[in-house]
Amino acid sequence: MTSSMTRRAVAAARCANIGADDQFEHTVHKPDLRGKLPESWACIDCGVNTAPGFFNRKQMEQAMALDWNDQGVKQTFDALSEVYTVKPKIWKVANMEENGGCLCIGCLERRIGRMLAAEDFLRNDPFNAMPGTERLRSRRGRRGQRPKGLRP
Ligand SMILES: [Zn+2]
Repeated sequence: MTSSMTRRAVAAARCANIGADDQFEHTVHKPDLRGKLPESWACIDCGVNTAPGFFNRKQMEQAMALDWNDQGVKQTFDALSEVYTVKPKIWKVANMEENGGCLCIGCLERRIGRMLAAEDFLRNDPFNAMPGTERLRSRRGRRGQRPKGLRP
């Protein structure tokens, strides 16, 4: 990246009649995904992978570092995914801290002592409109709105 940036900067400098010694350098830093993606998608209670089609934080940072051609990193929701958002009061009852890890639906229900219902999920959250396990879909009903550009 450095050499192509430098070549481009030199070419730009020539166009602008600036001496080739005046170089432009641009440093691109790795994205810091701490707190934005889980360290692991494994349910912290039973260990099941709640998002087999997703990278965890470290894997995503590595994939983005390798994505030199800016093709993007594809992640998949499917019938094995239990990626969802519930209201903060549900996490509180479940004794979950923010960024405290993932819980599968069964373990979250065990913690709160009841089955989840549609009103427990955040309305219009894109995650709540994605494909998921049968039990997730049966609990949340049709809560979310899939954002434009995202296909099932
Ligand atoms: Zn679990």
